[in-house]
Amino acid sequence: MNKLDIGELHKIHQNFTLLDAHFDLLYDVEIQRSLGIKKVIETDHLPNFLAGGFNIIVSSIFLDSKDLPEMALRKALDQVSALYQEIDESAGKIMLCKDYHDIQQAIAEKKVGIVLSFEGVEPLYDDINLLRVFYELGVRGVGLTWSRRNYAADGCTFSSENRGRQGGLTEFGREVVKLAYELGMFIDVSHLNDEGFWDVMDMVNKPVIASHSNCRAIAGIMRNLNDDQLKALAAKGGVVGLNAASMLAANDKEDANIAKLVEHIDHMREIMGLEHIALGFDFCDNLFKYSSEEDLRKMPYVPFDVVKGHARVGDLTEALLKKGYSREDIKLIYGENYLRAFRATVG
Ligand SMILES: [Zn+2]
Repeated sequence: MNKLDIGELHKIHQNFTLLDAHFDLLYDVEIQRSLGIKKVIETDHLPNFLAGGFNIIVSSIFLDSKDLPEMALRKALDQVSALYQEIDESAGKIMLCKDYHDIQQAIAEKKVGIVLSFEGVEPLYDDINLLRVFYELGVRGVGLTWSRRNYAADGCTFSSENRGRQGGLTEFGREVVKLAYELGMFIDVSHLNDEGFWDVMDMVNKPVIASHSNCRAIAGIMRNLNDDQLKALAAKGGVVGLNAASMLAANDKEDANIAKLVEHIDHMREIMGLEHIALGFDFCDNLFKYSSEEDLRKMPYVPFDVVKGHARVGDLTEALLKKGYSREDIKLIYGENYLRAFRATVG
Protein backbone atom coordinates (compact mmCIF):
# COMPACT_ATOMS: atom_id res chain seq x y z
CA MET A 1 0.00 0.00 0.00
CA ASN A 2 1.31 3.44 -0.85
CA LYS A 3 1.50 6.08 1.81
CA LEU A 4 -2.07 7.14 2.49
CA ASP A 5 -2.68 10.82 2.15
CA ILE A 6 -4.29 12.80 4.96
CA GLY A 7 -7.61 12.96 3.13
CA GLU A 8 -7.76 9.17 2.87
CA LEU A 9 -6.97 8.75 6.58
CA HIS A 10 -9.70 11.19 7.47
CA LYS A 11 -12.16 9.09 5.53
CA ILE A 12 -11.07 6.09 7.59
CA HIS A 13 -11.46 8.02 10.84
CA GLN A 14 -14.56 10.05 10.12
CA ASN A 15 -17.00 7.47 11.42
CA PHE A 16 -14.81 6.57 14.38
CA THR A 17 -14.80 7.90 17.87
CA LEU A 18 -11.12 8.58 18.52
CA LEU A 19 -10.07 8.55 22.15
CA ASP A 20 -6.70 9.03 23.83
CA ALA A 21 -6.89 7.40 27.26
CA HIS A 22 -3.93 9.33 28.70
CA PHE A 23 -2.54 12.79 28.10
CA ASP A 24 -1.03 15.15 30.70
CA LEU A 25 -2.99 18.00 29.15
CA LEU A 26 -3.83 19.93 32.30
CA TYR A 27 -0.29 19.70 33.64
CA ASP A 28 0.76 21.80 30.65
CA VAL A 29 -2.33 24.02 30.72
CA GLU A 30 -2.00 24.89 34.41
CA ILE A 31 1.68 25.79 34.09
CA GLN A 32 1.04 28.03 31.09
CA ARG A 33 -1.96 29.68 32.74
CA SER A 34 0.14 30.41 35.83
CA LEU A 35 2.30 32.52 33.48
CA GLY A 36 -0.74 34.47 32.33
CA ILE A 37 -1.37 32.61 29.07
CA LYS A 38 -5.01 31.83 28.28
CA LYS A 39 -6.82 29.59 25.78
CA VAL A 40 -3.94 27.13 26.00
CA ILE A 41 -6.00 24.15 24.86
CA GLU A 42 -7.54 26.03 21.96
CA THR A 43 -4.19 27.45 20.82
CA ASP A 44 -1.67 24.68 21.49
CA HIS A 45 -3.65 21.44 21.57
CA LEU A 46 -6.97 21.66 19.76
CA PRO A 47 -5.39 21.99 16.29
CA ASN A 48 -3.53 18.71 16.89
CA PHE A 49 -6.60 16.93 18.28
CA LEU A 50 -8.63 18.03 15.26
CA ALA A 51 -5.90 17.18 12.76
CA GLY A 52 -5.82 13.64 14.14
CA GLY A 53 -9.60 13.45 14.34
CA PHE A 54 -9.68 13.02 18.13
CA ASN A 55 -13.05 13.34 19.87
CA ILE A 56 -12.17 12.48 23.45
CA ILE A 57 -9.02 13.13 25.48
CA VAL A 58 -8.60 11.69 28.95
CA SER A 59 -6.57 14.29 30.79
CA SER A 60 -4.64 13.17 33.81
CA ILE A 61 -4.22 15.22 36.93
CA PHE A 62 -0.48 14.69 37.18
CA LEU A 63 1.71 16.16 39.91
CA ASP A 64 5.44 16.66 39.76
CA SER A 65 7.20 15.09 42.75
CA LYS A 66 8.62 18.47 43.76
CA ASP A 67 5.09 19.53 44.73
CA LEU A 68 4.51 16.55 47.03
CA PRO A 69 3.05 16.19 49.48
CA GLU A 70 2.17 19.71 50.59
CA MET A 71 1.07 21.18 47.27
CA ALA A 72 -0.72 18.13 45.86
CA LEU A 73 -4.28 19.17 46.69
CA ARG A 74 -3.79 22.75 45.61
CA LYS A 75 -2.07 21.84 42.33
CA ALA A 76 -4.81 19.31 41.52
CA LEU A 77 -7.53 21.87 42.16
CA ASP A 78 -5.61 24.43 40.10
CA GLN A 79 -5.58 21.97 37.19
CA VAL A 80 -9.33 21.34 37.48
CA SER A 81 -9.95 25.09 37.73
CA ALA A 82 -7.76 25.66 34.68
CA LEU A 83 -9.94 23.27 32.69
CA TYR A 84 -13.15 24.98 33.76
CA GLN A 85 -11.70 28.38 32.78
CA GLU A 86 -10.44 27.07 29.44
CA ILE A 87 -13.92 25.66 28.67
CA ASP A 88 -15.43 29.10 29.35
CA GLU A 89 -12.85 30.80 27.14
CA SER A 90 -13.30 28.30 24.29
CA ALA A 91 -17.03 27.80 24.49
CA GLY A 92 -18.37 25.56 21.75
CA LYS A 93 -14.98 23.92 21.15
CA ILE A 94 -14.23 21.82 24.23
CA MET A 95 -16.32 20.34 27.03
CA LEU A 96 -15.94 18.28 30.18
CA CYS A 97 -17.40 14.77 29.90
CA LYS A 98 -18.68 13.24 33.12
CA ASP A 99 -20.52 10.28 31.59
CA TYR A 100 -21.23 8.50 28.34
CA HIS A 101 -24.10 10.86 27.55
CA ASP A 102 -21.66 13.80 27.67
CA ILE A 103 -19.32 11.92 25.35
CA GLN A 104 -22.12 11.42 22.85
CA GLN A 105 -22.94 15.12 23.15
CA ALA A 106 -19.32 16.12 22.49
CA ILE A 107 -19.27 13.96 19.38
CA ALA A 108 -22.64 15.24 18.12
CA GLU A 109 -21.66 18.89 18.70
CA LYS A 110 -18.19 18.35 17.22
CA LYS A 111 -16.47 19.45 20.41
CA VAL A 112 -13.44 17.76 21.89
CA GLY A 113 -14.53 16.10 25.13
CA ILE A 114 -12.21 16.00 28.13
CA VAL A 115 -12.44 13.23 30.75
CA LEU A 116 -10.61 13.84 34.04
CA SER A 117 -8.50 11.17 35.70
CA PHE A 118 -6.06 11.09 38.61
CA GLU A 119 -2.51 9.95 37.91
CA GLY A 120 -1.80 9.27 41.56
CA VAL A 121 -4.15 10.05 44.44
CA GLU A 122 -1.75 12.33 46.31
CA PRO A 123 -4.36 15.13 46.24
CA LEU A 124 -6.46 13.02 48.63
CA TYR A 125 -3.51 12.53 50.98
CA ASP A 126 -5.24 10.13 53.42
CA ASP A 127 -8.69 11.72 53.42
CA ILE A 128 -11.26 9.48 51.72
CA ASN A 129 -13.89 12.26 51.92
CA LEU A 130 -12.02 14.20 49.26
CA LEU A 131 -12.69 11.49 46.66
CA ARG A 132 -16.36 12.53 46.65
CA VAL A 133 -15.34 16.18 46.14
CA PHE A 134 -13.24 15.30 43.11
CA TYR A 135 -16.08 13.15 41.78
CA GLU A 136 -18.38 16.17 42.01
CA LEU A 137 -15.78 18.24 40.13
CA GLY A 138 -15.95 15.70 37.31
CA VAL A 139 -13.03 13.36 37.93
CA ARG A 140 -13.96 9.87 36.73
CA GLY A 141 -10.68 7.95 36.53
CA VAL A 142 -8.58 7.00 39.53
CA GLY A 143 -4.99 6.12 38.77
CA LEU A 144 -3.82 5.12 42.23
CA THR A 145 -0.17 6.01 41.77
CA TRP A 146 2.42 7.51 39.50
CA SER A 147 5.78 5.70 39.66
CA ARG A 148 6.20 6.44 43.36
CA ARG A 149 4.68 5.52 46.71
CA ASN A 150 1.75 7.34 48.28
CA TYR A 151 -0.86 6.73 50.98
CA ALA A 152 -2.85 4.37 48.75
CA ALA A 153 -0.28 2.19 47.02
CA ASP A 154 3.20 1.76 45.63
CA GLY A 155 4.13 2.76 42.09
CA CYS A 156 6.25 0.61 39.82
CA THR A 157 9.73 1.64 38.86
CA PHE A 158 10.76 2.70 35.38
CA SER A 159 14.05 0.85 35.61
CA SER A 160 14.66 -2.72 36.72
CA GLU A 161 16.98 -1.56 39.50
CA ASN A 162 15.93 -2.80 42.88
CA ARG A 163 14.31 -0.07 44.91
CA GLY A 164 13.78 -2.17 48.00
CA ARG A 165 10.78 -4.21 48.98
CA GLN A 166 7.48 -2.84 47.82
CA GLY A 167 3.95 -3.28 49.10
CA GLY A 168 0.48 -3.74 47.73
CA LEU A 169 -2.53 -1.56 48.45
CA THR A 170 -2.75 0.05 51.85
CA GLU A 171 -5.95 0.09 53.87
CA PHE A 172 -6.54 3.57 52.47
CA GLY A 173 -5.90 2.32 48.95
CA ARG A 174 -8.54 -0.36 49.40
CA GLU A 175 -11.02 2.25 50.62
CA VAL A 176 -10.30 4.36 47.54
CA VAL A 177 -10.88 1.43 45.17
CA LYS A 178 -14.14 0.47 46.87
CA LEU A 179 -15.55 3.99 47.00
CA ALA A 180 -14.43 4.83 43.47
CA TYR A 181 -16.58 2.04 42.00
CA GLU A 182 -19.49 2.90 44.29
CA LEU A 183 -19.41 6.50 43.08
CA GLY A 184 -19.12 5.58 39.40
CA MET A 185 -15.42 5.98 38.75
CA PHE A 186 -12.94 3.48 37.32
CA ILE A 187 -9.54 2.39 38.62
CA ASP A 188 -6.50 2.90 36.38
CA VAL A 189 -3.65 0.48 37.14
CA SER A 190 -0.97 2.01 34.90
CA HIS A 191 2.06 2.89 37.09
CA LEU A 192 0.86 0.62 39.90
CA ASN A 193 3.36 -2.05 40.99
CA ASP A 194 2.55 -5.74 40.54
CA GLU A 195 1.54 -6.25 44.16
CA GLY A 196 -0.97 -3.42 43.99
CA PHE A 197 -2.22 -4.58 40.60
CA TRP A 198 -3.19 -7.98 41.97
CA ASP A 199 -4.76 -6.45 45.06
CA VAL A 200 -7.03 -4.39 42.78
CA MET A 201 -7.86 -7.47 40.72
CA ASP A 202 -8.81 -9.41 43.84
CA MET A 203 -11.20 -6.65 44.92
CA VAL A 204 -12.93 -5.61 41.73
CA ASN A 205 -15.48 -7.35 39.54
CA LYS A 206 -15.94 -4.48 37.11
CA PRO A 207 -13.70 -3.31 34.26
CA VAL A 208 -10.30 -2.01 35.33
CA ILE A 209 -8.37 0.19 32.92
CA ALA A 210 -4.62 0.32 32.30
CA SER A 211 -4.72 3.64 30.48
CA HIS A 212 -1.14 3.80 29.20
CA SER A 213 0.84 0.56 29.45
CA ASN A 214 2.39 -1.84 26.95
CA CYS A 215 3.50 -5.49 27.01
CA ARG A 216 6.36 -6.56 29.26
CA ALA A 217 6.92 -9.55 26.93
CA ILE A 218 8.17 -7.08 24.29
CA ALA A 219 9.65 -4.24 26.36
CA GLY A 220 10.74 -5.66 29.70
CA ILE A 221 10.16 -2.60 31.85
CA MET A 222 8.09 -2.89 35.03
CA ARG A 223 5.82 -0.09 33.74
CA ASN A 224 4.51 -2.61 31.21
CA LEU A 225 2.15 -5.50 31.93
CA ASN A 226 2.99 -9.19 31.82
CA ASP A 227 0.77 -11.70 30.07
CA ASP A 228 -1.00 -12.80 33.27
CA GLN A 229 -1.90 -9.17 33.96
CA LEU A 230 -3.18 -8.67 30.42
CA LYS A 231 -5.35 -11.78 30.78
CA ALA A 232 -6.71 -10.63 34.14
CA LEU A 233 -7.65 -7.20 32.75
CA ALA A 234 -9.43 -8.81 29.81
CA ALA A 235 -11.31 -11.17 32.13
CA LYS A 236 -12.75 -8.13 33.98
CA GLY A 237 -13.78 -6.47 30.72
CA GLY A 238 -11.02 -3.88 30.99
CA VAL A 239 -8.81 -2.28 28.38
CA VAL A 240 -5.11 -1.49 27.97
CA GLY A 241 -4.14 1.75 26.24
CA LEU A 242 -1.15 1.53 23.89
CA ASN A 243 1.60 3.87 25.11
CA ALA A 244 3.73 5.66 22.49
CA ALA A 245 6.65 6.46 24.82
CA SER A 246 9.91 4.98 23.53
CA MET A 247 10.88 3.54 26.92
CA LEU A 248 7.68 1.47 27.03
CA ALA A 249 7.84 0.56 23.35
CA ALA A 250 11.23 -1.15 23.15
CA ASN A 251 14.14 -2.32 25.28
CA ASP A 252 16.58 -0.31 23.15
CA LYS A 253 15.59 3.16 22.11
CA GLU A 254 16.93 2.47 18.61
CA ASP A 255 14.14 -0.09 18.20
CA ALA A 256 11.35 2.21 19.37
CA ASN A 257 9.35 2.81 16.22
CA ILE A 258 5.81 2.42 14.95
CA ALA A 259 6.42 -1.16 13.79
CA LYS A 260 7.32 -1.99 17.39
CA LEU A 261 4.09 -0.42 18.65
CA VAL A 262 2.18 -2.62 16.21
CA GLU A 263 3.99 -5.62 17.74
CA HIS A 264 2.53 -4.62 21.10
CA ILE A 265 -0.94 -4.50 19.57
CA ASP A 266 -0.34 -7.91 17.94
CA HIS A 267 0.69 -9.33 21.31
CA MET A 268 -2.26 -7.79 23.16
CA ARG A 269 -4.60 -9.22 20.53
CA GLU A 270 -3.07 -12.65 20.94
CA ILE A 271 -3.22 -12.61 24.76
CA MET A 272 -6.39 -10.58 25.44
CA GLY A 273 -8.35 -10.36 22.21
CA LEU A 274 -8.93 -7.26 20.14
CA GLU A 275 -11.80 -6.01 22.33
CA HIS A 276 -9.42 -5.07 25.13
CA ILE A 277 -7.00 -2.80 23.28
CA ALA A 278 -7.20 1.00 23.38
CA LEU A 279 -4.92 4.02 22.82
CA GLY A 280 -3.22 5.84 25.70
CA PHE A 281 -0.39 7.56 23.89
CA ASP A 282 0.98 9.60 26.80
CA PHE A 283 2.57 12.17 24.48
CA CYS A 284 5.35 13.85 26.45
CA ASP A 285 7.80 15.42 23.95
CA ASN A 286 6.45 18.86 24.84
CA LEU A 287 6.19 18.21 28.57
CA PHE A 288 9.60 17.07 29.78
CA LYS A 289 10.79 20.68 29.70
CA TYR A 290 8.70 21.14 32.86
CA SER A 291 9.91 18.02 34.72
CA SER A 292 11.93 18.40 37.89
CA GLU A 293 15.38 16.83 38.22
CA GLU A 294 13.83 14.58 40.85
CA ASP A 295 11.37 13.07 38.37
CA LEU A 296 13.81 12.90 35.47
CA ARG A 297 16.22 10.94 37.69
CA LYS A 298 13.61 8.18 38.01
CA MET A 299 13.98 7.37 34.31
CA PRO A 300 16.94 5.64 32.63
CA TYR A 301 16.73 8.22 29.82
CA VAL A 302 14.25 10.90 28.77
CA PRO A 303 11.85 9.04 26.48
CA PHE A 304 10.54 10.31 23.15
CA ASP A 305 7.17 9.93 21.48
CA VAL A 306 7.20 7.16 18.89
CA VAL A 307 4.02 8.51 17.28
CA LYS A 308 4.68 12.21 16.82
CA GLY A 309 1.62 13.64 18.48
CA HIS A 310 -2.14 13.55 18.06
CA ALA A 311 -1.98 15.04 14.57
CA ARG A 312 0.11 12.07 13.42
CA VAL A 313 -2.09 9.18 14.59
CA GLY A 314 -2.54 8.42 10.89
CA ASP A 315 1.01 7.01 10.91
CA LEU A 316 -0.18 4.27 13.26
CA THR A 317 -3.37 3.74 11.27
CA GLU A 318 -1.33 3.24 8.13
CA ALA A 319 0.92 0.68 9.86
CA LEU A 320 -2.10 -1.23 11.23
CA LEU A 321 -3.79 -1.33 7.83
CA LYS A 322 -0.57 -2.62 6.27
CA LYS A 323 -0.37 -5.32 8.94
CA GLY A 324 -3.85 -6.53 7.99
CA TYR A 325 -6.01 -4.89 10.66
CA SER A 326 -9.43 -4.03 9.28
CA ARG A 327 -11.18 -0.69 9.62
CA GLU A 328 -13.54 -2.37 12.07
CA ASP A 329 -10.58 -3.60 14.17
CA ILE A 330 -9.09 -0.12 14.21
CA LYS A 331 -12.41 1.41 15.17
CA LEU A 332 -12.53 -0.83 18.25
CA ILE A 333 -8.95 -0.03 19.26
CA TYR A 334 -9.26 3.70 18.64
CA GLY A 335 -12.23 4.28 20.92
CA GLU A 336 -15.06 1.75 21.07
CA ASN A 337 -13.32 -0.65 23.44
CA TYR A 338 -12.48 2.06 25.94
CA LEU A 339 -15.99 3.47 25.82
CA ARG A 340 -17.45 0.05 26.58
CA ALA A 341 -15.36 -0.15 29.78
CA PHE A 342 -16.14 3.49 30.60
CA ARG A 343 -19.89 2.94 30.29
CA ALA A 344 -19.74 -0.18 32.44
CA THR A 345 -18.12 1.75 35.29
CA VAL A 346 -18.99 5.44 35.00
CA GLY A 347 -22.31 5.05 33.19
ZN1 LIG B 1 2.01 8.13 33.21
